[in-house]
Amino acid sequence: MLVDSHCHLQLIDYVKLGQDMSAVIAAAEQAGISKMLCVATTLDDFVKLQKISQQYPCVSISAGLHPNEAQGLPLDYEQLKTQCSDEHVIAVGETGLDYYREPKEQLKWQRDRFMQHIEVAHAVSKPVIIHSRDALEDTLACIKSGNLCAVGGILHCCTYDWQAVKKFLDYNLMISLAGIVTFKNAEYLREVAAKVPLDRILVETDSPYLAPAPHRGKINQPRLVTHTAEAIAVARNTTIEQIYHSTTDNFNRLFAIN
Ligand SMILES: [Zn+2]
Ligand SMILES: [Zn+2]
Repeated sequence: MLVDSHCHLQLIDYVKLGQDMSAVIAAAEQAGISKMLCVATTLDDFVKLQKISQQYPCVSISAGLHPNEAQGLPLDYEQLKTQCSDEHVIAVGETGLDYYREPKEQLKWQRDRFMQHIEVAHAVSKPVIIHSRDALEDTLACIKSGNLCAVGGILHCCTYDWQAVKKFLDYNLMISLAGIVTFKNAEYLREVAAKVPLDRILVETDSPYLAPAPHRGKINQPRLVTHTAEAIAVARNTTIEQIYHSTTDNFNRLFAIN
């Protein structure tokens, strides 16, 4: 049993893949993926994701606005809060900061939106899914000033090294590793995989992006999360069963799922 803690089923190009969503979910279940968290990137995703979660009990959903979407635009706080209050929504996000394309001076709107997501998370008592790229210090500053500790959260698709990851661990966050940990040049991430405490690791695909080796460059889907779990097991010199067990346990604990 394994959980894909972060996928975007709504963004997979099913025509190109040659499979529909039911086939993708069935294949994941067959591969032992008992649960998938399908993550919103825009507020418009909400209706789509609600339908998906109603149709597939193994799919949980979030609500939020990705830092690279609706660039420069303000967030409709009330709409986000209403969506996050929905009983099917278990997490707020993905949200966060992404300074990869533009300098931080031009991205105050990202910080404002991130803080609004954290505020909503407090209002609805649900954990936050954090996207953070090239924005370590400001992400930590927002986490601190928003007291994100109190609601909990996930640093998703971790691309930071161990020194940085330790700072997220200090805020009690879960660290979710994506397929990058299987890439040849990602030795620094295998160090993270080896050192993060066992009760703080999650695995994800971030499908349709970042397919793990040996599927690198292809369309990613939840069933491929097994490769990422294997890479973590190797890095930690432990069994695959241990990683399956701990990451599932961590996910269920964070979201208070029995
Ligand atoms: Zn992301
Ligand atoms: Zn994502």
